[in-house]
Amino acid sequence: MRSENVEVEAIPLRIRASSGATVEGGQAQVVRPSLVARARRSFGWLAGGVLGGLLFLPVPLVHFFGVVFFLVMSVVAVKTLGTTAVLRAAKGPCPACGREGSFFLGLGWRPAKFPATTSCKHCSIGLTLTAIEEI
Ligand SMILES: [Zn+2]
Repeated sequence: MRSENVEVEAIPLRIRASSGATVEGGQAQVVRPSLVARARRSFGWLAGGVLGGLLFLPVPLVHFFGVVFFLVMSVVAVKTLGTTAVLRAAKGPCPACGREGSFFLGLGWRPAKFPATTSCKHCSIGLTLTAIEEI
């Protein structure tokens, strides 16, 4: 991924397993991308939407999906532009199996909203991450 000049904040987490066990001591990395970075990424989504829409356009019966694709990509573009805090990564101990690890949180452009759901890569139990402090 391209490096952007952004500050990374470490947010302390409370991790709760779907079994009910809870631990504190996890940490999430929250990134606040600049307006320029968000606009650049948003434009990428929009350009992808236009390209995808144009590819479907000449195909009979399927051209309708091109319009839908363009609209979906436009919504993603607007959301990207409005996302001021991104949940980049999270790590911590699993309350169920006790092993330390990082948690999968999408492709690195998920809005930083808590609670966030993920799972343990060791025991696959469902986990809910909650920020101990307000972000
Ligand atoms: Zn686990």
